[in-house]
Amino acid sequence: MSILVYVENTDGKFKKSAFEVVSYAKSIADNIQTDVVAISIGNVAEDELAALGKYGASKVLNVNQEQLASFVNQAYASIIAEAVKSTGSKLLVLSNSFSGKGLAPRIAAKLEAGLADGVLELPHITDDKLTVKKTAFSNKAFATLELTSDIKVIALSPNAYEIKETGGNAAVETFTPNIDQLDFSTMVKEIVRATDKVSLPEAEIVVSAGRGLKGPENWGMIEELADVLGAATACSKPVSDAGWRPHSEHVGQTGIVVSPNLYIAIGISGAIQHLAGVSSSKTIVVINKDPEAPFFKVADYGIVGDVFDIVPKLTQALKAYKG
Ligand code: FAD
Repeated sequence: MSILVYVENTDGKFKKSAFEVVSYAKSIADNIQTDVVAISIGNVAEDELAALGKYGASKVLNVNQEQLASFVNQAYASIIAEAVKSTGSKLLVLSNSFSGKGLAPRIAAKLEAGLADGVLELPHITDDKLTVKKTAFSNKAFATLELTSDIKVIALSPNAYEIKETGGNAAVETFTPNIDQLDFSTMVKEIVRATDKVSLPEAEIVVSAGRGLKGPENWGMIEELADVLGAATACSKPVSDAGWRPHSEHVGQTGIVVSPNLYIAIGISGAIQHLAGVSSSKTIVVINKDPEAPFFKVADYGIVGDVFDIVPKLTQALKAYKG
């Protein structure tokens, strides 16, 4: 029985998370000797769909209907659940992205499937049981889940799994779902882009700053550093509460959870509520003038010093390195 993966796109281009979920599913498929079928919803070009084969999909089900061009939670969930049934897949993998967080529980409920979200690693699969490690309590702990339902759903954390190129092109098939108009009770009318910058939940590098910056007028150096690194910017909760930065940048227990390859924390104390949203970052660099700041306890690299001195020097050094 193949593994089904849902691959997300933005404006017809697959997101990085799409390649992550296909690569992840391919690794599972190799272990249990099956193949990977992807389902794409929206207007994605045929060659983009076929290129998912590079990451391990043998087939791509393409749902391209005008009504579905923008993300509609209920409708997408119904279609993906229908695809699981029609392919006979026992395992569905999708990204634990913003839309994935909305889709996964709906799909699991429709299929009476067990759900593991916020998954970081490959599962261990025996005949009827899937065991997998996931984040719990807003990333403050890890839990090991055992799924014993007939159909199982995994929502993979963004940036948790390395993209691997393995194969050639995938076969593309049109999938025509049964559309229920009741699924369109809420619709996206317009998409207004707040920024053209790298999306925070999916960013590989995040430059984040806190109250140590003293005020919004000092964020230029944070943005400059982020630009040099091709990073997304983030902030602590008090910073967004004070209106220094938009709420969309607030990371932590009550904000966005990120797991980039590199998280640079600048003038942030490292309160437990902040760490809850960033502790699964692969490498953490902390810049703080207080050597006792709690953030240093979880840092891979720490710089004790004044941000107004360190950050411009760091940016200059990176610019010089990049030529
Ligand atoms: P501060 O705690 O004021 O720390 C500023 C840091 O900057 C200090 O370590 C200081 O040494 C350093 N500093 C100052 N000046 C300089 C300088 N010139 N150079 C270098 N370093 C300097 N917080 C979040 O971030 N995210 C959340 O989701 C979140 N959720 C919460 C939920 C609840 C229920 C509660 C109660 C709190 C929550 N908080 C959250 C708030 C959290 O407890 C902390 O208050 C907050 O993270 C502190 O933000 P900060 O580190 O920017 O500020």
